[in-house]
Amino acid sequence: MLRKFLILILIILSIIFLWTKTPISSGHYYNKAKSAYDSGQYSVAAELFEKVTNLDSNNPNARLYYAMALSKLEPKYTVQKKIYELANSKINDQAKQYAKSQIITIKRELLKGVEDNYIYNAVAGNNIIRWNINSFPLKIYIENQRSVPKYYMDNINKAFNQWSSRTNFVKFSPTNDKQKANIVIKFENSPSNGCDGEKCHYTVAYTTPHATPNGILKQMDLTFSITDLNGNDFSALEIYNSALHEIGHTLGLMGHSENPDDVMYSNNDKTRDVFAMYRSASQYLSMRDLKTLALLYRLEPNITDIKTQSENFYYPPLILGSNDEVLQKKLNEWEKYIAKYPELPSGYINLASIYSDFGDFENAIKYLDQAGSLKLSQDEKYLINYNKAVIYFNAQDYKKALQYANTAKSIKNDSTINELIEEIKKQ
Ligand SMILES: [Zn+2]
Repeated sequence: MLRKFLILILIILSIIFLWTKTPISSGHYYNKAKSAYDSGQYSVAAELFEKVTNLDSNNPNARLYYAMALSKLEPKYTVQKKIYELANSKINDQAKQYAKSQIITIKRELLKGVEDNYIYNAVAGNNIIRWNINSFPLKIYIENQRSVPKYYMDNINKAFNQWSSRTNFVKFSPTNDKQKANIVIKFENSPSNGCDGEKCHYTVAYTTPHATPNGILKQMDLTFSITDLNGNDFSALEIYNSALHEIGHTLGLMGHSENPDDVMYSNNDKTRDVFAMYRSASQYLSMRDLKTLALLYRLEPNITDIKTQSENFYYPPLILGSNDEVLQKKLNEWEKYIAKYPELPSGYINLASIYSDFGDFENAIKYLDQAGSLKLSQDEKYLINYNKAVIYFNAQDYKKALQYANTAKSIKNDSTINELIEEIKKQ
């Protein structure tokens, strides 16, 4: 009795299996989808045509109707993703061409009002880093503020206020609980080894993101030097400009603009005023800064404090292109930069990190070696050794990784390098 029962179930299952896997059912769904499409029920039609293309992936009509039905829908996250996938599918047919043309239309619609941006440079490699929009106001904790003159904090607060007053969502509030802070402001003594002959290289402030390996953004540290290398206090304007720029980093604009009118501009032109080095002298957020930030906060993040899903997110590959396209764009930019400033190490260091993202460790090391042969600041020496350690780590050559990490540590002994050394020793 039991045996018969089992067989019966098997037969029923195999009938269902045959039914769903054969073109009979795909024909059935196709007709339903087509009549939904003809009567203007595009959402139903898209769902059914998707089913047909899953059952029968070489049905060019179903694929084309699927693409057309999708393009009639509001371009929310899921629609963007599906059209992007069609446009990048391995099948070269009319549906793919149609989806490609729709991407251009959708992109234009989504970027309306924020067209003028530097989002390609602002995102960190392939990562979209930003806070959850519901985490605002961001909580700010200030460490040892008594170590600096009062006008330091006044100007830092002024910079925070500009970001708030020029946007409709960026808000900050103070906290006494460091554990709960989103942004920690620190003041530290400037490095004793910042001078190299007559030239002194240093920055007024820098930002360090802290995230877990699975992409949870924990904190952004914004560290200011207490004095310059001669022991003099920074001017109010130096503190203000640096704060304005670094706050952009703490909000997730990890990269830099290539336009000197933007606050997030960065240059490495060492002939300029040493205080202006690495950052824009602009005291006002530009429209491009604001539009880039607005766009960043519409993109689906992969490194963020609270992971959520939303149909209002923009699908990043649709806006930025595929990972390889983004890397290729950056590659072209930095190659141009090197052609213009062949004597500056930063171009080679950045090119190396792109090759590393491509998984081309050989070229990455080659460019770091090239950077290493130039005149370097202590920071750059540190960065080259740190990056070599990371590249050898990724290439699973832990012996060499440790060797370079230790060299980096001898230049600057900070928590970043110690975390890396710990990670290498675990292997
Ligand atoms: Zn910067």
